[in-house]
Amino acid sequence: MPGLATTAPAIVVLGASALDTARRIQRVYPGAQVHGLSGRAVEADRPYDNFGEHLRDLYRANTPIIALCATGIVIRSLAPVLGDKDNEPPVLVVGEDGSAVVPLLGGLAGVNRMAREIAAALEVSPAITTSGELRFGACLLSPPPGYVLADLEQGKRFVSDLLAGAPVRVEGPAPWLDELSLPLDPQAQHRVSVSPLRQDDACTLSIHPRLIAIHVERVGPELDTEVQQLIDESSFSPHSLACLIAPLHLMSSTELQHVASQLGLPIRYSDDTTQLPAQHSRSQRARLLLADEPIDIKQIGQPRGSLTVIGLGPGAPEFMVPAARQALDEAQDLLGYETYIKMAGPLRPGQVSHSSDNREELQRAAHAFELAASGRRVVVISSGDPGVFAMAAAVLEALHASSDPRWHAVDLQVLPGVSAALATAAKAGAPLGHDFCMLSLSDNLKPWTLIEKRLEHAAAADLVMAFYNPISKARPWQLGRALELLRHYRTPETLVVLGRDIGRPSEALTVTTLGDLTPEQVDMRTLVIIGSSQTCRFAKQDGGDWVYTPRSYPAD
Ligand code: SAH
Repeated sequence: MPGLATTAPAIVVLGASALDTARRIQRVYPGAQVHGLSGRAVEADRPYDNFGEHLRDLYRANTPIIALCATGIVIRSLAPVLGDKDNEPPVLVVGEDGSAVVPLLGGLAGVNRMAREIAAALEVSPAITTSGELRFGACLLSPPPGYVLADLEQGKRFVSDLLAGAPVRVEGPAPWLDELSLPLDPQAQHRVSVSPLRQDDACTLSIHPRLIAIHVERVGPELDTEVQQLIDESSFSPHSLACLIAPLHLMSSTELQHVASQLGLPIRYSDDTTQLPAQHSRSQRARLLLADEPIDIKQIGQPRGSLTVIGLGPGAPEFMVPAARQALDEAQDLLGYETYIKMAGPLRPGQVSHSSDNREELQRAAHAFELAASGRRVVVISSGDPGVFAMAAAVLEALHASSDPRWHAVDLQVLPGVSAALATAAKAGAPLGHDFCMLSLSDNLKPWTLIEKRLEHAAAADLVMAFYNPISKARPWQLGRALELLRHYRTPETLVVLGRDIGRPSEALTVTTLGDLTPEQVDMRTLVIIGSSQTCRFAKQDGGDWVYTPRSYPAD
């Protein structure tokens, strides 16, 4: 069937009263999970904390949504993320007692079909509001995977002609049209043509099967021109191109990537040419291959894998950069501490989390590279910024030490995040408004003597300091020792900001002074900011203080 979503739907309930209906719907979609509001629908398969955010996450991840609640809640929740109608998942609302099934969004993604399936299971009539004609349009204009409509606008005009009574003939194999009662006539002027060849007449609805692959054997200057010529000289429509194929050693070739992005095609890498479709024509470095059936690119070699190192920010989803959110949505494998993977959720069906494996950072980095080298889209998750006392450096250390060409061919990216010091500083005002430094007080990876030396220099330079990893059960005395040392350089009135679990539900911000600070006020979930001699505070009208460090520094 055309344009159907392939991922299992999420059945979303608010309370336990909807669970019976949810389970009946679940029987229609093997693989679907029931998502329940934490604490209210405890027997659900997966908990979520915030209905609106959860729905938006699912929508963005292109997961079909079946929500058992009032339509208004769903409309208001999704309104901020509604975009392109050619590109959205099916969204349905079902009355929690199963009495009403309303398809809301995703007409081109098969929402009406789902509404009929669910309604049949619940023995009610679906509230289909799009007319039969639109289904007719949807089938013609969104052909099944492996086939591409040449021109949507022209297609819409074509469908209106048919609706106005024009007869039509079908040329080429199009079994998905059999269920439509098209006004067929072998003499008709209007025709649906299913063929890889270019066509350009107004009465033809061209649907191109993706039968063609371009096998690039070598790269070099002007590869793009050469490949374009090869396509132009054939009579194939560019819509019938399925992919580029290249040998494994070209995995990091920028020339090849340039050609692929110009043509909008995926690249598959394989050294096994015995399984490829037959050659149709060739140029110096590339050849066109023509298959009998639409090419399933998953059957050819592997894609270039990617490894994206992201930071979640301090905790709240709104402090995660959108590029990190996108990387998470697109990931196939997620690696990181379990808490971070939970914070990054909900996982899409099919996403694999490797939370409990490899506690050790370098091993985790190696695992990530192995997965990515096999063609997977891998995301490594840190909190805050991934480059600040976190996984990005471990990933680069592992790569630097490796001579495996497969690792070096991985598409590696590090995305920035809001680090704990920045999030804590923003809560307090602007304590990092002038020169500052970030130090980890952990002596796991460096000697304590070095930490003391750096503290002394930073203190002598009157820098504001942000302490990460200030204390832990295994490192109980270090913070006390650091404070002792600082007291030689800074007055007891020096301002101190403690940010604990910033951006998380248990967030706590404390403003105190160096004189009053004791290690007992600090734990491993705290970020400590020690002010400079210039850091100051004033009362906020609604309680508490603003803390800031002025931008200018007095001359000696
Ligand atoms: N990459 C992270 C830091 C990891 S080191 C970042 O950029 O924020 C871990 C330390 O970061 C913790 O011991 C604590 O000092 C600090 N930290 C991380 N998240 C925090 C949060 N939400 N609130 C306060 N401190 C946090």
